[in-house]
Amino acid sequence: MKVHTDTQRCVGAGMCALTVPEVFDQSEEDGTVVLLDAEPPAGQRAAVQRAERLCPSGAISVLLDD
Ligand code: SF4
Repeated sequence: MKVHTDTQRCVGAGMCALTVPEVFDQSEEDGTVVLLDAEPPAGQRAAVQRAERLCPSGAISVLLDD
């Protein structure tokens, strides 16, 4: 699984960091997403996909490789 975030689209809503704090954080400067782990373990797949769905700006994309 590979995760990509687009800080140009991110509106700083923070749903991702609340949903999977191991993978997403927010910038202390402007609140935009900070990707902590671009290739999270398979055990986090459901949570990462939930964060992708919850993101209001479509800034998160998840590529499944299995
Ligand atoms: S949920 Fe989306 S808009 Fe909100 S901080 Fe995360 S990437 Fe940005």
